[in-house]
Amino acid sequence: MSAEMNKIPYKIYLEENEMPKAYYNLRADMPIKPAPLLNPGTGKPLTFEEMQPIFCDELIKQELDNDTQYIPIPQEVADFYKMYRPSPLVRAYCLEKALDTPAHIYYKFEGNNTSGSHKLNSAIAQAYYAKQQGLKGVTTETGAGQWGTALSMACSYFGLDLKVFMVKVSYEQKPFRREVMRTYGASVTPSPSMETAVGRRINEEFPGTTGSLGCAISEAVEVATTTEGYRYELGSVLNQVLLHQSIIGLETKAALDKYGIKADIVIGCAGGGSNLGGLIAPFMGEKLRGEADYRIIAVEPASCPSFTRGIYAYDFCDTGKVSPLAKMYTLGSGFIPSANHAGGLRFHGMSPVLSELYDEGLMEAIAVEQTSVFEAAEKFARVEGILPAPESSHAIKVAIDEALKCKETGEAKNIVFGLTGTGYFDLVAYQKYNDGEMSDIIPTDEELQASFAKLPKVNA
Ligand SMILES: *Cc1c(COP(=O)(O)O)cnc(C)c1O
Repeated sequence: MSAEMNKIPYKIYLEENEMPKAYYNLRADMPIKPAPLLNPGTGKPLTFEEMQPIFCDELIKQELDNDTQYIPIPQEVADFYKMYRPSPLVRAYCLEKALDTPAHIYYKFEGNNTSGSHKLNSAIAQAYYAKQQGLKGVTTETGAGQWGTALSMACSYFGLDLKVFMVKVSYEQKPFRREVMRTYGASVTPSPSMETAVGRRINEEFPGTTGSLGCAISEAVEVATTTEGYRYELGSVLNQVLLHQSIIGLETKAALDKYGIKADIVIGCAGGGSNLGGLIAPFMGEKLRGEADYRIIAVEPASCPSFTRGIYAYDFCDTGKVSPLAKMYTLGSGFIPSANHAGGLRFHGMSPVLSELYDEGLMEAIAVEQTSVFEAAEKFARVEGILPAPESSHAIKVAIDEALKCKETGEAKNIVFGLTGTGYFDLVAYQKYNDGEMSDIIPTDEELQASFAKLPKVNA
């Protein structure tokens, strides 16, 4: 091990001048483009004008742009990135040793910023474009709080107001996240609130409800569209978010190239698909252009298995059914993972870009049970030091499995995975695991069929 360690450092960093100067738009290299978002009222693709009351102009352009391969990173955004990027690509020497595997394991660590995850990469870009447009502020929703935290950091940097609707149960149970957001100047409202028409209606219909992400989205969109100088921003699923997250993959590829390392397997966890879409972008691009081949694996929870057990169809992005329709692998917008699922990645659908690539067989997906995810998290924390987010630990689990397969075959494969964040705000989940109270509840086929039966009928 030691001779080799002299060659490849524990942490591969890029120099400032080696940093990506443009986002990579994978859609430009896709022969079959992801399906467009539809207006649920008309069943027709959403136009720029229809999106204008909701999103910032520049972000709509990015959302609709399937052709421009590279989109420059604005200087102001690049300057902010310099404060916490490049993120390190770490050679997991200690994990390799613990597994006694000939595989070489690398992880791209996105938890080195206060928000604790990759979400800041898109938050700062989205806040910048809102500021550029002369807006006063933006609204968003947050469940566990990672996205709300990232956007509050980004908005305070650019001097924008931010109004976050936080799912009431999280607002009450995760006071620490809430205080981070407030420290960065965001106003945080438990959802459903009495401040919006939709919130009042839901409170009246379901007295004492603890809220849902779908409801919080509806409230955030209502405030954005009815308040002068405001727009709404979303932290995953959308094409624009994958575009911004390509910074992860571009840095990873540049760091590997710097040492002449060719990845064999690229692994990431998948909730709405933004970190995975960003990590794999340049690798998938080479694959699509026929320049190189990679095994690309999405890892999702067995209790919310959009890719592995969902169907590829148009569906709402939110439980409240107020969002546009997206063609994606979905479990149905009414699907809610079992309450005992503590491991994150709870979204019922998946990025349309990744859905199309998966449907064409260009990437694989694996569903894993949360107890095995926390076992992997514990193993990783004990040897590599970092306390991983439960979401990220899905990728750790499969990286370990692949490294153990290499042990059987004796192959020294290069395994690269995305370590999307830290787990400091997930200690209730770790507590359940440590107390032996974590179990796996997997939806039955009957439950999924009942959910599929409620999918919207679309003639597209
Ligand atoms: C939000 C989040 C995810 C999942 O979101 P994607 O859009 O699928 O990337 C994964 N890891 C962490 C740490 C997160 O905060």
